[in-house]
Amino acid sequence: MTSPRADAGWQGGPRASRVVALNAAPVRADGACVLYWMVAHRRLGWNHALDRAVQHATRLSRPLVILEALRAGYPWASERHHAFALDGMSEHARALESGAVLYHPYVELEPGEGRGLFEAWAAVAAVVVTDLYPAFFIPRMQRVAAARVGIRVEAVDSNGLLPLTETSAPFSAAYPFRRFLQRNLGAHLVEMPHPDPLSAADLADAGDLGREIRERWPAASAELLAASDAVLAGLPIDHTVGRAPTRGGTAAARARLDAFVEDGLERYGQERNDPDSDASSRISPWLHWGHISVHEVFHRVAEHQGWSPARLATVADGGRHGWWGMSPSAESFLDELVTWRELGFVYCHHVPNHDRWDTLPAWARDTLERHAPDPRPWTYIPEELDAAATHDPVWNAAQTQLRSEGVVHNYLRMLWGKKILEWCEHPRAALEVMIELNNRYALDGRDPNSYTGIMWILGRFDRGWPERPVYGKVRSMSSEATRRKVRLDAYLSRWGSGHGP
Ligand SMILES: Cc1cc2nc3c(=O)[nH]c(=O)nc-3n(C[C@H](O)[C@H](O)[C@H](O)COP(=O)(O)OP(=O)(O)OC[C@H]3O[C@@H](n4cnc5c(N)ncnc54)[C@H](O)[C@@H]3O)c2cc1C
Repeated sequence: MTSPRADAGWQGGPRASRVVALNAAPVRADGACVLYWMVAHRRLGWNHALDRAVQHATRLSRPLVILEALRAGYPWASERHHAFALDGMSEHARALESGAVLYHPYVELEPGEGRGLFEAWAAVAAVVVTDLYPAFFIPRMQRVAAARVGIRVEAVDSNGLLPLTETSAPFSAAYPFRRFLQRNLGAHLVEMPHPDPLSAADLADAGDLGREIRERWPAASAELLAASDAVLAGLPIDHTVGRAPTRGGTAAARARLDAFVEDGLERYGQERNDPDSDASSRISPWLHWGHISVHEVFHRVAEHQGWSPARLATVADGGRHGWWGMSPSAESFLDELVTWRELGFVYCHHVPNHDRWDTLPAWARDTLERHAPDPRPWTYIPEELDAAATHDPVWNAAQTQLRSEGVVHNYLRMLWGKKILEWCEHPRAALEVMIELNNRYALDGRDPNSYTGIMWILGRFDRGWPERPVYGKVRSMSSEATRRKVRLDAYLSRWGSGHGP
C-alpha cells in the first residue's frame, strides 16, 4: 500500500473533523508566522497537526515556527521520561537545523521558567496549531493558554485512524466500538497524514524571526538535548527513576517497527501472550510520546500485507477477524493497535475525569465495594509493591522489569494490575497505586491507554464474571494459571529474584 497523499501530490491539511477550535478568536492576517505548538504528536511526518500548520503557512505565505517544549514540573517528570523526550527533540533539532522552518526546542531548567513563552510566540503569530490529546495535563494547559491569546488556536487530532470527534459518546466495550469502526473507518483509511510535509511544501523562510523571544527563552543547546547523565542530573526532575535502555525518537521507533513487521507480525496472533517470545511490537513508548504515529504503523503493516482498501469486508458484525482482509495475525495486531487503543482515546475524549473511580461502570463499583471488606490472604503497602517485595515471583519480576526498563509485557501487565487489586486494602487504593506505579515508571504511561489498562483491571470495558472473594464479579487472574498458560521461564530467569530493581 502506498500513501495516497504521497502519490497524489499533496493537497493540504486534514479533514475538518480533526480540527477543533480552542477559542473563538480569528486568524490574524498580519501575523508574522504560523506557530505549531507541538505537545503530544512529537514528530515531523505522518502528523495531521503538522499538516494543518503547513497548510496555514502556505495559504498565508508565512513562515512556520515549531515550538516543542519540555516542562520540568509536570507530574512524574523524571530522568527516564526526560531522556526519552529529549532524544526526539534532538532529532528534530538536527532535521530542522537548516531550512525554512524555525524550530524552537525549549527545556525548562527550573519549574515555571517557560511561563509566558507560548504567549510570546502567539503574540507575533497569525494562528496557532497544537495537538489534540485527550489525557494528562495537556487538555487543561491548552484551554488555559488558548483563552489567554487573541488569535485562533486549533487543536488537531492525529491520535488515531478514526478522528475522535466522529464519535458522539464513549463506548462501553470493545465489541460495539469495533462494530462502529467497521461501519465508519473505511473512509479514514485513505486519508493518511503526509509522511514528510516539510519537504513537500514550499514555505517562507523564518530567518531571524522572534529573536527577542529566543533571547528570553533560549533554545535548548545540542548538549542539553543530547541528555548526558550529567545534563539529566542537573535538571529539577525525579532522579530516582533513571534512564531506560530504550532510546526515544522517530528513528528508533522506525527501527523497532521494521523489526516487528519483519519478524513479529506473523507470530503475533499465536505468541503475543508469551513473555518468552519477542512477538509483540514493543512500540507503545514511541506511540505515547508521539514519535511515531499509528498511521505510519498501520501503513507499514498494510504494505507488508499487500493490502488495499478494497479488501475491507462489507459485513460489520463486530467480529475480531475477517474485517480488515489481512492475515489472522495482522488482524489480531490491528485489533490491539486500533480497536483497543482508540477505544480508550475515545473514552478519554468524552470523559475528562477518566482516571477517577466514579467513572467505572456501576456494576463494577458496586461489586468491588461490596467485596472490599473481604479478608485478603496477602496485603502490601505501596512501598512494598514499588520495591517488588511481595511473595509472588511472577509479580515481582513484572514490577522489576517496569522499574528497570520502563516497560512490562502486556500479559504480565494484566496480572500485575489484578494482583494490586487483590493485595491492596481497598480497590480505591489499588487504583491509586496502579496509577502511581504505571505513570511513574512506564515510558508509555500517562496515556489514554494507561487508563484503559488500569480501569480494565477494575471492570471498565469488561463484563461480569462468576463472583469470587475480593474481586466480586470483576475478572480475576492468578500467577499460577499464568505460569501454566504462557511461556515465561526465560522471563523469570531474567527478571526474577536476584535481579534487584
Ligand atoms: C494495568 C495496565 C496498564 C497499562 N498501561 C498502559 C500504558 O500506560 N500505556 C500503554 O500504551 N498501554 C498500557 N496498557 C496496555 C498494554 O499493556 C500496552 O499497550 C502493551 O503492552 C504495549 O506493548 P506493545 O507495544 O508490545 O503492544 P502490542 O501488543 O504490540 O500492541 C500494539 C499497540 O496496540 C496498543 N495496545 C495493545 N494492547 C492494548 C490494550 N490492552 N489496550 C489498549 N491499547 C493496547 C498499544 O498502543 C500497543 O503499542 C496497560 C495495560 C494494563 C493491563
